[in-house]
Amino acid sequence: MTTLFISDLHLDPDAPEITSQCLEFLADEAAGAEALYILGDLFEAWVGDDDPEPEKRRVIEALHALAEGGLPIAFMRGNRDFLVGERFAADAGCRLLDDPTVVDLYEQPVILMHGDSLCTDDLEYQAFRNVSRQPDWQAEVLAKPLEVRLAMARQARAQSREHTSQAAGEIMDVNQGAVEDAMRRHGVYTLLHGHTHRPDVHRFEVDGHEATRIVLGDWYTQGSVVRWSEHGYELVALPR
Ligand code: MN
Repeated sequence: MTTLFISDLHLDPDAPEITSQCLEFLADEAAGAEALYILGDLFEAWVGDDDPEPEKRRVIEALHALAEGGLPIAFMRGNRDFLVGERFAADAGCRLLDDPTVVDLYEQPVILMHGDSLCTDDLEYQAFRNVSRQPDWQAEVLAKPLEVRLAMARQARAQSREHTSQAAGEIMDVNQGAVEDAMRRHGVYTLLHGHTHRPDVHRFEVDGHEATRIVLGDWYTQGSVVRWSEHGYELVALPR
């Protein structure tokens, strides 16, 4: 049996082909898996669990059907869908995961993260991250009418695009020191995350330990999945 990991689908009503590929992946591969982990940024934007947008609801219903069929699904919030809450979890039949979480995969301990917390060179983003993860800040935002929240999300995405286009490439990637600190803190030297849209497997050494950092890709032009079984893992691109 195989445990599946995906992240960074950035599902968006403006890109229905991604939603279609996601629904196919859920119906085919995920339906036969042992467990599914979604490591953040499933959605391009998430303004609250009360958003009735139909494309989002189709994906939530598909997840719910899988969960009903017995598939354990875990969801970690990303930097786009950090406002996902308990109602979403109930609607989608998912268990919400803290970032980071350490799991045991076929007797191999692995740190799971979305990945944005590792991009410590991006000071402007980290400042926003600190504020926007506060319960008070979130409660204040979620109390606003849906239309106001949707307008806020549009503005935030435009600002994010501008910031990403101006910031140097290395600032937008993980900081190696932050990666190694996380591994030391947990005493676990295998890390799996998304966020940077740079799918790869990095091998290095930390205090004499063999360390591995596996990075999931985004779903903009193809899918990306990590399949993990008792025989090990593979990072695979899913052609559209
Ligand atoms: Mn992200």
